[in-house]
Order: sequence, then C-alpha cells, then structure tokens
Amino acid sequence: MRPVLYLATQNKHKVEELTALLKHHFDIRDVSSLSLSEEIPETGKTLAENSLQKARYIAEKFQVTCLADDSGLEVEALGGAPGVFSARYAGEPKNDQKNLHLLLGNLAGITNRRARFVTVLTYYSTGTYTSFEGEIQGSIVEVPRGTQGFGYDPIFQPENETRTFAEMSLAEKNLIAHRARALEKFIKYLDETQKCADE
Ligand code: IMP
Repeated sequence: MRPVLYLATQNKHKVEELTALLKHHFDIRDVSSLSLSEEIPETGKTLAENSLQKARYIAEKFQVTCLADDSGLEVEALGGAPGVFSARYAGEPKNDQKNLHLLLGNLAGITNRRARFVTVLTYYSTGTYTSFEGEIQGSIVEVPRGTQGFGYDPIFQPENETRTFAEMSLAEKNLIAHRARALEKFIKYLDETQKCADE
C-alpha cells in the first residue's frame, strides 16, 4: 500500500501536475478532503519560507504527512520580480490575466526578456522537513500564446523551445518544468531514504 501524502495547495493545476508525477509513490490527497475553510497562510519573504510555512501549517493542523510547493517567476530585467509576489503581482484578488498583462506592460520596450521559473518543495513528515528546489530558464514572449496550463504559462517560453508552456500538453511541460525538476530531487531523496531503511 502506498503512503498517504497531502498536497498543501488550493491550486487545482498544481494538484494535477504534482499528482501526475507522484501517483506511483504516494496515495495523493489534496486539502479539499480536509476540513479547511481558510486560505493556507503565505506570509514569508521568500519562496523557501512560504513553502515551509504551507507544509508546516497543514501537517501540524491535521497531523498528516504533507508536501507544499511555492513557485514564482523571476524576470531578470525587473530585478527578479514578480518572484515571491507572482500570484498577486497585480494585487488582490489574485488574477492570472491581470498579472500577465501587468508584467508585459512593465517589460514594454525592454529587450532583455530573460526569466526563470523557480519552485521550492517542502516535504514535512512527523515534525521534520526537507526542501528541494527546481528551476527552468527561459524568456518572456511579446504576445501571449496558448491555452493550456495556468498563471504566466502563455508568456513563458523555456530555453531551446519554440512554444510557450501554454502551447504544451501537461505531459510535455512536466518533462522540463521547475516543479518537475524539484520533484525529481524529492523522488531521488525518497528512493535513497528507502534504500537506507532497507539496509
Ligand atoms: P504560489 O506558489 O501558489 O504562491 O503561486 C505562485 C504563482 O506563480 C502562481 O499563482 C502563478 O501565477 C505563478 N506560477 C507558478 N508556477 C507556475 C507555472 O508552472 N506556470 C505559470 N505560472 C506559475
């Protein structure tokens, strides 16, 4: 029987991406199956702080093993913005379309379009935690393209690709994306921990 792992996210796209990548290792549950009426707090100054805060909140409140993700888009010409503020770049309530258009406006006339997506995953189990980082380099296109995915996907083109994330299927995105890369490290850690326990 696979162990139960709760995903500390209320973003259904992230649940979909993470479940696709982890379903062979865990019985994945999302927070909709817990009695959680509030938003998971996210008040850290960095992706790592937020990731730990989310994992610890769910793990301790419900006494479960939990995985949290905090991700953001960092644009070089904007000094790393929106970064930790990616979800709420254009203010409250969070709105992907407004965020994306604000970013394109702020980059108008700027030729340096380099950007990267970063994810910090935190695995929290029985009071201890470990974090894993993944990133993908790319650039911000001038005009949004594609309808898949979420967030900034229509304006982010990974390096060595001609399509934006929003023009790729979930399976294609998961081969190269930041969350998948952080997850690879997490899975390697699980396999190594298991190997040590078996020895
Ligand atoms: P959080 O990790 O839920 O705090 O939100 C991070 C924000 O970064 C999301 O709301 C999106 O706007 C953006 N983001 C994170 N990962 C992705 C991705 O894979 N594609 C597009 N946007 C993303």
